[in-house]
Amino acid sequence: MPVESNDEIRFRCLACGALNHMDPTALDCVQCGLRIVDAHGVFHLLDASSKAEERAFYDDEYTRIAGQRPKASIAVLRQLWERNDAPQNRLLRQVTGDLAGRTVLLIGNGASRKELTFLEEMPRRLVYSDLSPNASRAIQAEFDFAPWASRIRFAAIDAENLPFEDATFDVVYGHAMVHHLPDVERFLQGVNRVLKPGGRAIFLDDAFSPVWHYSKQTWLKPLMKYSHRKTGISPEDYRFSMSGGFRESELAPMMTRLGLTPFFHRACLMDYVWTRAAEKLLPRRFYEPLATGLPMRALVGIDRALSRLAWYRQNQIRLVWGFSKG
Ligand SMILES: [Zn+2]
Repeated sequence: MPVESNDEIRFRCLACGALNHMDPTALDCVQCGLRIVDAHGVFHLLDASSKAEERAFYDDEYTRIAGQRPKASIAVLRQLWERNDAPQNRLLRQVTGDLAGRTVLLIGNGASRKELTFLEEMPRRLVYSDLSPNASRAIQAEFDFAPWASRIRFAAIDAENLPFEDATFDVVYGHAMVHHLPDVERFLQGVNRVLKPGGRAIFLDDAFSPVWHYSKQTWLKPLMKYSHRKTGISPEDYRFSMSGGFRESELAPMMTRLGLTPFFHRACLMDYVWTRAAEKLLPRRFYEPLATGLPMRALVGIDRALSRLAWYRQNQIRLVWGFSKG
C-alpha cells in the first residue's frame, strides 16, 4: 500500500491518468506503478515522444553545463535582477511582485537561473520545470537546495501538455520560452486551466520591433549570420528571430477570447542593440566595462526616458506580458 501523501500539487500520470501528489519521496504512480521520480528527485511528466528533436538539443546543452564544482548559494543570483545590461529583468521582477505564500510554476526555465531567488521570498511551493530533465540536474549540480527542499520541486514537462490538476498555481512564469512553442493559444489555455482564480501568468519574450526587424534583414544581416555561426542558436529561436517577435495585437485576442485580462509592458531598444553588438563583436574583457558599467547605465536611462514616446515604445524589444485570471 503506498503511503498517503498530502502534497498540495497534484498531477496526472501520463500512463494511466491517475492523480498523484507531487511528493518526491513517492517515486511511483499510485495506480499503475510507473516510475515517475528519478534519482535526482526530478519528476518526469512528459511523453517519451514529445518534442524529441528540441529535447535532444537541450538535453545535450545541459549535460555540458553540469559539472563537479562546489554548490553555490542561490543568493549569488540576486544580482542578475539588477544587471545594467538586462533592464528588462527589473521590469519583470516588478510585474511578478511578492511571491510569499504563493504556489509558483516556472515553465521552460532551463536556461535561466535568477528565478531561483524567488525561493527567498518563501513561496509555498516553487516548481522549477523544463522540457529536459537534464536542466534540473544541471541546476542541482550548481546550487545548494538543501535549505529549500520543502519548497522546491523539479520536473520535466511539456509546456503544451501541462500535467497538473486544474487550479493549482497562483503564478505561472515563463522566461523567454513562449516563443519556442508552435501553438501559443493552446499553451495559454493550459496555463489558464492550471491557474487558480485570481492567479497570474507572466512571460518575457521579444516583441516585434520594426526598426530592429528591418535592420536585421538589411544592414545588420551579415552580423546576424556571423553571430549565429559563432554562438549557435536553437531551431526554435532561429524561426522566432526571423519572424520578428510577438505583436500585442496578436497575443491580446488569444487571451480575451478565454475571458482573461491581458497586460503588456515593453523595455529596451538602444540598450538592447548596444549589448547585442558588444556581446557579439567585442572580446569578453571589453564587454564587462562597456555593457555593464557607466555608459550602459546612461543608455538605459535614455531608453527609459524615450519610452514615453509611443513610436519609440513600439520599437522596444523586450516584452513582459501575460494575463490575470478573473
Ligand atoms: Zn499511472
